[in-house]
Amino acid sequence: MNCDQHMTNEGAFVRVPAFVDLHVHFREPGFPEKETIASGARAAAAGGYRAVCMMPNTRPVIDSVETLLAVDWLGREANVTGVSVLAAAAMTMGQAGDRLTGLAAMDVAGTRCKTLTGHGVCGVSEDGKTLENPYLMEEICRQAARLGLALMDHAEPEVETIRRDIALAQRTGARIHIQHVSLAESVRLLREAKAAGALVTCETAPHYIALTSEALREMGANAKMNPPLASEDDRLALIEGLRDGTIDCIATDHAPHEAAAKEGPAWQAANGIVGLETAFPVCYTVLVRGGYLTLDDLVCLMAIRPAEIIGLPPPGDLEDPAGSYVLLDLETEYEIDKNTFRSKGRNTPFHGMSVYGRVMQTVIDNRVVYAATMNPATTLRST
Ligand SMILES: [Zn+2]
Repeated sequence: MNCDQHMTNEGAFVRVPAFVDLHVHFREPGFPEKETIASGARAAAAGGYRAVCMMPNTRPVIDSVETLLAVDWLGREANVTGVSVLAAAAMTMGQAGDRLTGLAAMDVAGTRCKTLTGHGVCGVSEDGKTLENPYLMEEICRQAARLGLALMDHAEPEVETIRRDIALAQRTGARIHIQHVSLAESVRLLREAKAAGALVTCETAPHYIALTSEALREMGANAKMNPPLASEDDRLALIEGLRDGTIDCIATDHAPHEAAAKEGPAWQAANGIVGLETAFPVCYTVLVRGGYLTLDDLVCLMAIRPAEIIGLPPPGDLEDPAGSYVLLDLETEYEIDKNTFRSKGRNTPFHGMSVYGRVMQTVIDNRVVYAATMNPATTLRST
């Protein structure tokens, strides 16, 4: 992996650039009982993030300048956390799949994203769905290419859709970013496509590299998400994809739900798990302590590459007093406790997991926006 050194030591802790998450679901407007933009931003700050891309499947859907600006205003309100909440535009009106949104108008809207990246939205996505109409998909790809926006695709069924998207990227010049890759065959296809020069990028999520479908048996609905957890062979192929640069970044697909949505039999429960407050420790423990990646590689996957994909300015020099960085405790083992989450969601398969890599402090633009000791529910446990 080609990524420069991005860490300095600071006492017992390590300082790395703050993270960027290309894939979160903050449920406002529409479902504030699951998550508000403010609670989501607090969870992001606690996870070490400086910016997140919020997917458009809210109610109403982010399919107009009006809704985009309303969401952006809520994001600015939540900016007490310092986290930039950037919204992705939907591909079709109401995500109904039959009429394209006015992407060009949303791209010039005066949002926080516009200030940071030059674009009113951080990308265009029908997240949660795949736009199947080939004519509309081709047209939205051409529009995204003209505007220079990343087209983020929730590819489902995964392998067939990735095949289609690779061909579309080659034909239309669109930069297509495949969301939450979960299967070995997908990694193989994307590796080949990149070698052939296709403008595709992709992400996987911490749960696909830490867990397999076995977890569903043990944890039920809290291990249920879309795409579902796969096999050990898939998990190892994803790790290989992270190692050789086929997979560009790690995104959480943070999908909070209230407790009731996860009750009852798993087959009836809602899809999705929260991820912002567990991503770094889970990835650090599995990938770095597991011997697959260096800390630098992981920082590249969580902080550097995702910023590049959406054109967010780099985090700046770690010594820069106006910088955005995270202080990490890499030496002390602790147990993930969902009751300490800033997110409203407690739907995690990682509750009780022993990990390393606690986020001790998040600094954004030279302001401490999160400190582990600020949270009375957080107690350090030395081992
Ligand atoms: Zn999603």
